[in-house]
Amino acid sequence: MEEQLKVLIIDDEESMRDSCSLILIKDGYLIDTAENGNEGLKKLEEWHPEFVLIDLKMPGIDGLEVLEKVKEFDSEIIPIVITGYATVESAVEAMKRGAYDFLPKPFTPEELRIIIKRGLERRNLIKEAESLRREKKLIEENFITMVTHQLRSPLVTIGQYFEVILGGIVGDVATKQKEMILKAKDRLEGLLELINDWLDIARLSNGQILEKRKSISIGEIVEKIVDFIRPQAEKAGISVKILPIKDSDKVLGDKESLEQVFSNLINNAIKYNKSNGSISITIEEQKNCIATSIKDTGIGIAKEHLPMIFDQFYQVSRTGQKGKGSGLGLSIAKKIVDLHNGSIDVESKEGVGSTFTVCLPKPEKT
Ligand code: ADP
Repeated sequence: MEEQLKVLIIDDEESMRDSCSLILIKDGYLIDTAENGNEGLKKLEEWHPEFVLIDLKMPGIDGLEVLEKVKEFDSEIIPIVITGYATVESAVEAMKRGAYDFLPKPFTPEELRIIIKRGLERRNLIKEAESLRREKKLIEENFITMVTHQLRSPLVTIGQYFEVILGGIVGDVATKQKEMILKAKDRLEGLLELINDWLDIARLSNGQILEKRKSISIGEIVEKIVDFIRPQAEKAGISVKILPIKDSDKVLGDKESLEQVFSNLINNAIKYNKSNGSISITIEEQKNCIATSIKDTGIGIAKEHLPMIFDQFYQVSRTGQKGKGSGLGLSIAKKIVDLHNGSIDVESKEGVGSTFTVCLPKPEKT
């Protein structure tokens, strides 16, 4: 046998412990024994066996209770109960509570061997299924990242060719041609945005955010984004202001992904605003979190759409308005906020405006 598997025998009868040990040692297993439930549970934690043989009838904590504790400790351990003639019902009860099998006393060495062998086969099947599951997950994750990267690079190159043509570097471009290339460039940018969103989703599934969390200032993040998008807002005649921050604005978070959340919300507040509209941002310390609200005076969202706007690919259909994005921005924002153990909510009135509020946990006091 390549891997030496461990079997813990918990039985108050010394002769039973000794005979089972002798049979299984001969078959190459490592054995430890305990004469009662308490001692057995202690050894279980210290030694972490692959199999546990549990006598159902023992003084002190009984076999059923030991069985439950074994399942709680590690559901992959294979527990087998040993029962006397008079305890068939308890054997059934033990099976219901997760025992893999039972051995009625007295049993022959061959019967013990068969049961352990079957348990071993089951353990291998569980292990194999688990490793297949892990492999499938890895392929899925890498597949999305690989395909999107493969798509991204040629699209970026096409965009660069468009820039060269539009810049007149390779000759004059007629007005009609320019119009068409600009349209193509617009569609290309939309496609690249979608691919970037896919990559973000694949990255978020990897759950790296929790590891990278530290104390950061929301005010700084929001100011940086507002400085960056102000020219775009001004061009659309939209004013953006951050109200003075009174208390702490520190949260426990991953800077890069939170930048993405607020950048998405502020960009939406511009994108779905009216001309000459405004955006006001409030950062406030509350009892359990730091709440950041982004309030716009835009087109608002009708009540029937509100429950769905955080769903992937959901876009509010509005007459006369073409889809302006991928419909992934808010779902990514929600995913990031959820990974921070925070919350994101929206209040909105059609034709009046929307307020998106993000609550993020404060750093622990040291
Ligand atoms: P998109 O890429 O379409 O902007 P989002 O996930 O960011 O995707 O938003 C989903 C939908 O929610 C949008 O299509 C839009 O209709 C609506 N929405 C988001 N933010 C606002 C806002 N500030 N005002 C009005 N509608 C909004």
